[in-house]
Amino acid sequence: MLNATHDPALRSWVSSANAPGTDFPIQNLPFGVFRRRAEADCRVGVAIGNQILDVEKSSSLGLFHGLAAEAGAACSGGTLNALMALSAAHQSALRAALSAQLAADATWYRSDPQLGLRLLTPISDVEMCLPATIGDYTDFYASVYHATNVGRLFRPDNPLLPNYKYVPIGYHGRASSIVVSGTPIRRPRGQIKDPQADIPVFARSHLLDYELEVGVFVGPGNELGQPIAIDAASTHIFGLCLLNDWSARDIQSWEYQPLGPFLAKSFATTLSPWVVTLEALAPFRRAAFTRPEGDPAPLPYLFSSADQLLGGLDLTLEVALLTEQMRAEGLEPVPVSRGSFADMYWTIAQLLTHHASNGCNLRPGDLLASGTVSGPVKDSRGCLLELTTRGDEPLILPTGESRRFLEDGDEVILRGYCERAGAVRIGFGECRGIVVSALPGA
Ligand code: MN
Repeated sequence: MLNATHDPALRSWVSSANAPGTDFPIQNLPFGVFRRRAEADCRVGVAIGNQILDVEKSSSLGLFHGLAAEAGAACSGGTLNALMALSAAHQSALRAALSAQLAADATWYRSDPQLGLRLLTPISDVEMCLPATIGDYTDFYASVYHATNVGRLFRPDNPLLPNYKYVPIGYHGRASSIVVSGTPIRRPRGQIKDPQADIPVFARSHLLDYELEVGVFVGPGNELGQPIAIDAASTHIFGLCLLNDWSARDIQSWEYQPLGPFLAKSFATTLSPWVVTLEALAPFRRAAFTRPEGDPAPLPYLFSSADQLLGGLDLTLEVALLTEQMRAEGLEPVPVSRGSFADMYWTIAQLLTHHASNGCNLRPGDLLASGTVSGPVKDSRGCLLELTTRGDEPLILPTGESRRFLEDGDEVILRGYCERAGAVRIGFGECRGIVVSALPGA
């Protein structure tokens, strides 16, 4: 549903928000949690151009009214959980108030520009924190292209298991090791069994990979025992971010049967700091993935005409790589793949509804991840396992270096943005992480 906050003609008194190509125009207004350097407190803010508007301070100055004031009051305490717990109407009212506050014609700003400037901090002057306290984290497997490509590597004759087109596959991830963009990633050590060896060894992973994914923050939760109907799913989704599900493929291939990924994934997951609300994404919704002729329809609890019509999302996702040598030579990160979230087999509403369908309670700030976003063509493959065909076809980088999997010093940079004619482009910012060497050991 589009409203005044999506108006492409809207401009902000924050001039950097009007620059073409910015990730954070006034039509976006993503929420994050930041800390000014030399300050201890984390604070809730929204990104606007190259600045952050302090939402907590705006709220305490009495700039919001009605539902927006209630939502603004929930923005204290240094996490988004309390805001996420409020109704979609509260969140929408706060967005409308922030849009009005930041609009070029805002009367309060015209009467006191100094006050406006005191509410802003340059993004370059802050450290970003995790947006929420994440109680539980679940990772899905929603790209049929990813599932097929990976399945083919392990089971050439039978790439896609028979449950795939019926049940959104997922596993319970680890919440404690989710870190914000920019946090160094220690290469893990673990049990690895070489295909030729009889027994495993405990050693540093040498098949370290990234996975390009989209994170979904749960808004208002559900009571234990009370499923969420597919048509109500979107009112339980606060917003989306970028997510890198770091994966140690050698540890994974030895440990994953029969209960799925465990230590191959739980050492780290990186999140982008800005949460783009579902409302901000409204202009970029599209039909759900068109299932090929012969595929089963979703079971009734996962089927809704509204979700089929607008459950998809035109979100372009890119991965870039920057090696230590590239950094030394002053080179820019090199793009290695580009995919679209429109290629996902399951919608985010289906993932959430399926998760709660057994009565499992989801709580505000819980995180769902989409699974690796891969598309039908080779350069839309969202991890190195697929992109290099398990190392058989290495990437060649501008320095002449090659990569089968990640080396120490490599930085992985995820980016995402939505574009459509008649709408203002919005972006997700970046999700970055640099691999550092494993701890020494036998
Ligand atoms: Mn994953």
